[in-house]
Order: sequence, then structure tokens, then C-alpha cells
Amino acid sequence: MAIVWEPVWEVVVIEHEGMRIRVLKDRETGLLACPICMHEMRSKRKSKFEDVGRFFFDVPSLINHLATHAL
Ligand SMILES: [Zn+2]
Repeated sequence: MAIVWEPVWEVVVIEHEGMRIRVLKDRETGLLACPICMHEMRSKRKSKFEDVGRFFFDVPSLINHLATHAL
């Protein structure tokens, strides 16, 4: 028996130090998806993004990850 994660994404807006960022959040697990990684994966695969990317359980972790894209 396999366990399969089937995310149900909803767009949410998070605020951090005056910035408003639109991200996808899984309704069941509460996972936040990095919008930059998702965009990259979507453009490479040329198909709808489902379960590949970087995911975080809290906003500070997502913000720290987003900062690494600027390096
Ligand atoms: Zn990312």
C-alpha cells in the first residue's frame, strides 16, 4: 500500500517586513510552496505543477528559503 500526497492548493498572501507575497498553501497539510521553485519547475516541465518543489511548514522557513534565491 502506498501513501500518496495529493495537495489541494489555495493561494494565500503572507506578509513579511512590509512585503506581501502570494504563495500556494496546501489545505490539508498547511504546507507552503516556494513560488520561485514552483515557477521554475512549471516552466521546465511544461505541465501543471503538482508535487515537485520546495515546501515549508512555517512562514519564517519559507522566507529564509526565498532569501537564498537572491544569492
Ligand atoms: Zn525556492
